[in-house]
Amino acid sequence: MKVQYFLIIYTYCDMGYFACSYTLIFVWEAGSVSMNKIIEVRDLVKHFEITSTKGLNKSYVKAVDGVSFDILEGETLGLVGESGCGKSTTGRLILRLIKPTSGEIFLEGKNINDISEKELRRIRKDIQVVFQNPYSALDPNMTIEDIISEPLSIHKIVFKYDYDKEVKRLLSLVGLSEKDAKKFPHEFSGGQRQRIGIARAIATRPKFIICDEPVSALDVSVQSQILNLLDDLQKELKVSYLFIAHGLNVIRHVSNKVGVMYLGKIVEMGNVEEIFNNPVHPYTKALLSSAPIPDPFSHREKELLEGEIPSPVSPPSGCSFHPRCRYAMGICSEKKPFLQNINENHKISCHLIDSGFDFKGVLA
Ligand code: SF4
Repeated sequence: MKVQYFLIIYTYCDMGYFACSYTLIFVWEAGSVSMNKIIEVRDLVKHFEITSTKGLNKSYVKAVDGVSFDILEGETLGLVGESGCGKSTTGRLILRLIKPTSGEIFLEGKNINDISEKELRRIRKDIQVVFQNPYSALDPNMTIEDIISEPLSIHKIVFKYDYDKEVKRLLSLVGLSEKDAKKFPHEFSGGQRQRIGIARAIATRPKFIICDEPVSALDVSVQSQILNLLDDLQKELKVSYLFIAHGLNVIRHVSNKVGVMYLGKIVEMGNVEEIFNNPVHPYTKALLSSAPIPDPFSHREKELLEGEIPSPVSPPSGCSFHPRCRYAMGICSEKKPFLQNINENHKISCHLIDSGFDFKGVLA
């Protein structure tokens, strides 16, 4: 945000007013809140082709089916949904580990869909990833020093003679000791290995990190330490996160905005307070009501989901949630809903919006 000031100076002289005037313009960059878009995703689609065993029939798994969102500088978007909803595939598409079927991905305004391999290598410095499983994410034959130095060397972040110093700095940033540099991954616990994975991710000084279920393989006692570490690093490094998780409590703890995915689509999106205090989409309501409450005396009405997630090869017509939705109407199996604003911080994809349905009165 920029604010302009105009200052006019009048000088009085014996000849009368207005001997001269000056106009100065000051441009002020507003405080600490930056509105720079780091990532823009537009209508992202990924359909995986599958062929029958005899090779006669082709069909497509619609893993991601028209996903759009923005992530601002220093912001965290949490993506949540059941297994197979397409949240991890969305992360892999942004990382360009797989190519999208259609749609666009912008990094700081630059379209990264159709760039050369050389440019892609350069851009990988700015987009990093923390993987789910800290046990398989680190090469057991490499020392921690080698693991963290590797991205320093590939992306030429510091001179070779500074690797040692930089590795120690990164280890200290993630709460490990300098002595750990000479050890191997098997000498660490799961939480410590995830810290090493985070040190490797921040080694290239990225603008954006995809955290793909980074705490789901860890003990509950260690999860909060890793979440707090990611939070501290975000404040210090001004990095943006796409945080993918099953657990709503984890998403609530780390996110500024939340996108709820179902069968390859975002069905509800909004800032974290809106999604958790005023959920509107029937699927989000059901997900929230099934999350455990850490209070043995608290009671909450459950909205249990019935039936299985349909196959992404042949998703239901119209709203793909309609076979499991207790509010389904005739139109729901015929026409696809699309994401619409219900206020400036909250969008949902549901025909109940157009039906004049009283969301607050019935669903809340
Ligand atoms: Fe339920 Fe219909 Fe809304 Fe889909 S569009 S969530 S089926 S009410």
